[in-house]
Amino acid sequence: MSEIRNDTPLIEVRNLKEHFPIQVSGLKTKPLKAVDGVSFTINRGETLGLVGESGCGKTTVGRTLLHLYKPTAGEIWFDGKQIVTKQDILEYRKKSAMVFQDPYSSLNPRMTVGQIIGEGLMTHKFFKAGDPKMKEYILNVMEQCGLQGYMLHRYPHQFSGGQRQRICIARALAVKPKFIVCDECVSALDVSIQSQIINLLEELKEKEDLTYLFISHDLSVVRYISDRIGVMYLGNMVELGDADTLFKDPRHPYTIALLSSIPTTDMNALDKERIILEGNIPSPVKPPEGCKFHTRCYMACDKCKVVPPPYVEVTPGHHVACHFLDKKVDENGKYLFECTTKTVER
Ligand code: SF4
Repeated sequence: MSEIRNDTPLIEVRNLKEHFPIQVSGLKTKPLKAVDGVSFTINRGETLGLVGESGCGKTTVGRTLLHLYKPTAGEIWFDGKQIVTKQDILEYRKKSAMVFQDPYSSLNPRMTVGQIIGEGLMTHKFFKAGDPKMKEYILNVMEQCGLQGYMLHRYPHQFSGGQRQRICIARALAVKPKFIVCDECVSALDVSIQSQIINLLEELKEKEDLTYLFISHDLSVVRYISDRIGVMYLGNMVELGDADTLFKDPRHPYTIALLSSIPTTDMNALDKERIILEGNIPSPVKPPEGCKFHTRCYMACDKCKVVPPPYVEVTPGHHVACHFLDKKVDENGKYLFECTTKTVER
């Protein structure tokens, strides 16, 4: 049974898990823990950025959140209502949409722009077949997304990457969603085009009162567009806080390493030490014991190898999962971390 609550964020995710069975030998399967217990909220009109390396589970979170994958466990709430039944999922899908990473493969090459945008309108019964108002509606959505009316009968291959992403955004926007998951939606584009698409998303957010989950591996882009940022590692959220706090006062060693790798033109920051993480992200089929990050963490102590760190709120709204919570910076700008077993310098 669905429950209804009032005065809640637009999206609430509680202990979401997405495990995919993979064959190991014969009929034997093991769960690949792509998402392994993630909780967060997204307020109305907010953009939550989700970052992490490839394979950290951020795309799976986005897809599971929209019920493109059936969650293995956990709860998803939309607008104060838990999404449980088939009917809930259908209603929820009408109010949510996704913009995919690759504007080349996510558009049907045999359909014109008008047909691509119109498809969702027909599916969600915005118009009946042959309704003359539909064309006017599609042209209006295209204009909002920076596409000219004469492009209505063109095919995807006749457009540039940026224009194709505008078509994808128009397709998402046409069904009047409240919530959009943008999955690496500017990663395949040139930097100058990226900024145009980001500006378009910002503009539409204001005009249409939208809420975004913005998934990207590019921290500079995420910082620009997000109100809050979540950092994922191997299926778990390791740090979550508002964008400024996360950039000025990162607490998790993984976040600190990711931030240190952002290219900068700031002369004062040029001598800042870059933290290079050793090794690859471990397999989500057999994640490490204790803290999942300990095999690559430059701060790891014995405790990290056996005890998973709790996910705690260090300051209001700033959550971190690490045994080293007290970070100080010494007079030389070096980070000093205190853990229950040792103090280390970075
Ligand atoms: Fe590193 Fe230990 Fe913190 Fe995990 S708990 S991030 S291994 S210091």
